[in-house]
Amino acid sequence: MEYICESCGTLLMHSNQITLDSMKDVHDQLCSVKRQNITTPIPQTSQKSIPNAQPSLSNTPSPSQTISSPSTQQSSVPASSPGGQTTISLTGNGTSYSKIEGPIDPEFKSKRQVTGTFQGIKVWGPVDAPGQLGIWGTEVTVDFDICVADGACIEACPVNVYEWLDTPGHPASEKKPFMIREKDCIFCMACENVCPPQCVKIFQKG
Ligand code: SF4
Ligand code: SF4
Repeated sequence: MEYICESCGTLLMHSNQITLDSMKDVHDQLCSVKRQNITTPIPQTSQKSIPNAQPSLSNTPSPSQTISSPSTQQSSVPASSPGGQTTISLTGNGTSYSKIEGPIDPEFKSKRQVTGTFQGIKVWGPVDAPGQLGIWGTEVTVDFDICVADGACIEACPVNVYEWLDTPGHPASEKKPFMIREKDCIFCMACENVCPPQCVKIFQKG
C-alpha cells in the first residue's frame, strides 16, 4: 500500500494499512509544503481614520492654557498734558543729547508749552529726562539745558530764591539752580546779569 502526498509528492509505502495511516499522519504534520499552503496570512492591522481628529501637537492653545497679554510698556519719562499737570521726573531714557549753547530764548513762553511741574514750579518742554530738561520757572526762569552749574546766580541772589537740584545724566551739568522760592524774587536782575551762558531770564509781574 502506498500514499502520495498531494502537496509535496512524497511517496509513502507500507504493507499494513494502519501503519501507513500513522505514517501519513506524521508526514502531514511535518510536510513543509503542506504547512506553507495552509498557513493563513496574518491580515495587516488597518489604521482607521478618525474623522475630525486633531493633531497631537497643535499650536492652538487649549481652553485651560493661559494666554498672557503683552505687558504694558512703562516709561519713566512723563507724558505731556495740555494743562501741564504732569509731575516732571528727572530720570528716563533721554540720554542722546549734547550740551546746548546760550543764551536762553526770551520768547520761549510763546514758543513752548508747560509740560508739567516739579514741586509747584512750571517746566516748559520739550522734556526728555535726563538729557533734555527744558526751561524751568515762571518769573525766575532758567534754561536747564544750557546751565553749566557754576553757581553764580545762587551766590548773587539776595533773597535766596535758588537751591541746588541734582540732575544726573544731563550733558551740560549734573545740578541746576532750582528756583523753588521764585515768589520771593525782588527782580533785582542780579542772577540774570551774572550768568555766563546767559540762560537766566527774569519776568517781572504785570
Ligand atoms: S532777580 Fe534778583 S531776587 Fe530774583 S532770583 Fe534773580 S537774583 Fe534773586
Ligand atoms: S549762573 Fe547761569 S550757568 Fe551758572 S548756575 Fe546760574 S543759571 Fe546756571
